[in-house]
This record gives sequence, C-alpha cells and structure tokens, in this order.
Amino acid sequence: MVIEYIGTIIRSEVANRKERLYESQNRGVYMFRIDNDFVIDATITGGPARYINHSCAPNCITEVVTVEKENKIIISSCRRIQRGEELSYDYKFDLEDDQHKIPCHCGALNCRKWMN
Ligand SMILES: [Zn+2]
Repeated sequence: MVIEYIGTIIRSEVANRKERLYESQNRGVYMFRIDNDFVIDATITGGPARYINHSCAPNCITEVVTVEKENKIIISSCRRIQRGEELSYDYKFDLEDDQHKIPCHCGALNCRKWMN
C-alpha cells in the first residue's frame, strides 16, 4: 500500500453539482469515483493522493476496500518503484465522444493518446 485517497464521500448527484460549483470558482477539481452511486471529493478535504497523475503504464493500482462498512480507495504499487519516480495510476475514465476527449500526455510507450 502507498496511500489512501481521502476526501468526503458524496452521492453522484452531489458530485455533479459540486463539480460545476468548483469550476465556476476556478478551482482544480479532485474527485475519485467509487462506484455508480458514490464519489470521493478531495477538492477541499483531500490528501496528497489527489495529486497522483494518470498514466497508461502506471506503477500503482487502485482498489476499493471496505473497512468497518465504509468504502475506501487504496492506492498500491503494482511493480517496484524507483526512488524519485513519479507515482501514477490508470484513471479508467469512461469513454467519451470526440468532442469531450481529454488528451493523454503520460509519455508511456503504450499510451492510448486519450484519457477517456
Ligand atoms: Zn497515456
């Protein structure tokens, strides 16, 4: 285990509202989807895990674990990580149509060119 993605657990509908609010405030939005219904909002109450970037060839994986009936996101290494190496995981964004594509700049040999 490397770090837990901490934040406030909110319902998807609330997450959508908050995302629009944060964007209107020019804030960086940091959220992690747990499942269809819930999202961890790390924008205000998050820890350093929110700054981990996406990579198509990541050195970490994420998993949802249940601890005392509460869902938590745990980020773990999936291979040996060199000292000073940047941490990354696959954001696994849903696929979007061409108008809403986010380009990927991870630099991996197998880069998919798009994050979604
Ligand atoms: Zn990539």
